[in-house]
Amino acid sequence: MAHPLVDDAMARLRDQATPCEEFRALARRVSVLLIAEATRDLPTAESFVETPLERAPARRLAARVVAVPVLRAGLGMLDAFLELVPSAEVGYFGLERNETTAVARRYYEKVPKDLQSATTFLLDPMLATGGSAALAIDGLRGLGARQVRLLCIVAAPEGVALLERQAPDATIHAAALDRGLNDKKYILPGLGDFGDRLFKT
Ligand code: URA
Repeated sequence: MAHPLVDDAMARLRDQATPCEEFRALARRVSVLLIAEATRDLPTAESFVETPLERAPARRLAARVVAVPVLRAGLGMLDAFLELVPSAEVGYFGLERNETTAVARRYYEKVPKDLQSATTFLLDPMLATGGSAALAIDGLRGLGARQVRLLCIVAAPEGVALLERQAPDATIHAAALDRGLNDKKYILPGLGDFGDRLFKT
C-alpha cells in the first residue's frame, strides 16, 4: 500500500530492536490505514443529522461488516478494526501451522451466522505460503461468506499466488509486498514472527 505513513510505520515494525509495546502500537497504526483503504467502497445510506445550527445531510455506513481475526496474530489488528467499524460483528478462526511442514490446520471456529449478507474481513497479518489464509477463506465460504477481503500487514508473492489460484474472488489488501519466503517459510525481509513479537513469547 503506497502511503508515507505506512512506510514509516513499517520501517519501525520491521526493526528487530523495536520493543513489544511499540510493535503493538505500530501494528495498530498500520492496520488503521489498511482498514480505511479496504473499506473505502462499502455502501452508505443517505440520512440527516441535526448540527447545533441546522439540519444537515449525512451518510451512514449501510453494510453489515464481519471481522474475523485469525488466532493469534490477527488479534493485533482487531482493535484497529473495531475503532474504525465499531458496529462490526466479530468471529474467530484458530489456525496453527505445523512448524516442520508449515501446513495449517483449523483448531477453533466461532463466527457470526448468515455470512452471506455480510462483507467479511479476514485479519491475518502475515500472508506467507497462503496455506492458512486459503484454509480460512475456504472455511468462511463454507459458512456462506460471499465477499471476503483479506487484510494483511506483510504479504509474500508465494501467498498471493496461492490465493489467486485457490481463492480468486477474495481480495487481498496488504500494507507491504515482500520478496519471498525462506526455507522455514518466514517472509523475507519480513518482520519475524508477528505473534511472538506481539505477545512477547
Ligand atoms: N508468520 C509470521 O509471523 N512471520 C512470517 O514471516 C511468516 C508467517
